Amino acid sequence: MRVALAGLAAAFLLIVGILCWSKFERHGPRVSTSAAIQVLGRSTPLDFDVQSDAPGLRSVTVRLQSGGTTYDLLSESFPAVSWWRSGVLQKRLHVEPDLVALKVPEGAATIDVSVETYAWHLLPVSHTPRLTVPVTIDLTPPKVEPLTTQHYVRLGGMDVAVFRQSPDTVRSGVQVDKYFFPARTGLFTDAGVALVFFAVPQDLAPDVRPRLFAADAAGNQREMYLPCEIKPRHFAERTLAIDDDFLSRKVPEIAHESGMPVSGDLVQDYLRINRDLRQQNDARIRQVTAHPAAQPLWDGAFRRQSNAAPLSSFADRRTYTYHGDVIDHQTHLGYDLASLKLSPVEAAQNGVVVFAENLGIYGNTVIVDHGLGIFTLYGHLSAIAVQPGEHVKTGQTLGQTGETGLAGGDHLHFSVLLSGVQVDPVEWWDPHWLRDRVTAKLTMFPRAATPAGAEHNDEQARPRDSTPPR
Ligand SMILES: [Zn+2]
Repeated sequence: MRVALAGLAAAFLLIVGILCWSKFERHGPRVSTSAAIQVLGRSTPLDFDVQSDAPGLRSVTVRLQSGGTTYDLLSESFPAVSWWRSGVLQKRLHVEPDLVALKVPEGAATIDVSVETYAWHLLPVSHTPRLTVPVTIDLTPPKVEPLTTQHYVRLGGMDVAVFRQSPDTVRSGVQVDKYFFPARTGLFTDAGVALVFFAVPQDLAPDVRPRLFAADAAGNQREMYLPCEIKPRHFAERTLAIDDDFLSRKVPEIAHESGMPVSGDLVQDYLRINRDLRQQNDARIRQVTAHPAAQPLWDGAFRRQSNAAPLSSFADRRTYTYHGDVIDHQTHLGYDLASLKLSPVEAAQNGVVVFAENLGIYGNTVIVDHGLGIFTLYGHLSAIAVQPGEHVKTGQTLGQTGETGLAGGDHLHFSVLLSGVQVDPVEWWDPHWLRDRVTAKLTMFPRAATPAGAEHNDEQARPRDSTPPR
């Protein structure tokens, strides 16, 4: 009898023990945010990571408390998969609440995250939120006011806009389809005046409408169309016949310089150079031009290589043939200039060398920073005479022309880049264009002696999608 009672008691304790082990949490549920939340705008994305021990989460509720009113932002339940558990031990929750639609007032507020689990509790369950974050609600987008009037841009060219932005602006610029051109402040004594160089890149349609853009710390955005007339143009079409002599001279040289493995099939290796390596090289160009000088370093029009005849102009549409068959199409971004072999290559303007080495299809290459996002590129050199970090003057020798990279003969490949995007160099060679479009804007207001925070927007005009501009 005693033995039986003891056995019953042991069995009871075992069941209680199993229940305790399975239904009581050792720790309470935990909530964290993946990023610091301080200011909430019109639709700020919020992410929460919620964790629990067995038996798992029952529900998570995210609320906003403001001025005595509670706004439900998110509520998610996790159904039980058996009599005792949901089995959901961790969950990332994402919400982008529309605070304007919810009519949340601006000012101080708190975010509360409450969590329920399937655990039993010996003491009454506390309804205290698991996470409380004090925030400020800001639903007012920054203000922008254009100070330049009508803009005229040639497709593939660029212009400069000056505008006033409210002090809460943290990011501003001009969006042209998939390209974003960052604005710069600190150039003028009036800290509220910003200046932006923007291009209408050659691969866009001429009916694109550039938009002035500003955002504040809460992510509130202001956008307006810039009055802009875009002049369409037809780019030249050229056919280049690729022969075996060219392939056997160029493919091994470029593959060797770039560390690219070769398959032995010259045409296939050539196509990988013309397509993949070209893209890699252009990505490298965007990388080395990402942090321009915050002041204009140039003084007057850009110099065009002396006594050189143009071989091809900006944005030629090229068709490549081999034994009469079309094998590739590419756009030639730059200007090809030829004179005597091994001619000295002249710096187009004052600037700082940021790149001086081999760059795949461009061969031996020098890139010079002229400030405010403007760079020049010199390709196919047979010799380089400068080093990164070196200050150069207009006309100074950067090296010697040659035919390194994808060049069939001795010439200079010259490019002008704005925020990593190739623009037509012809504009920068024209003193009238430079005076009316650029210098006039840079002198609209008294200039600051030393720029303060002049480089707060130093990212590139990278397309929003992952495809590099071709
Ligand atoms: Zn070229």
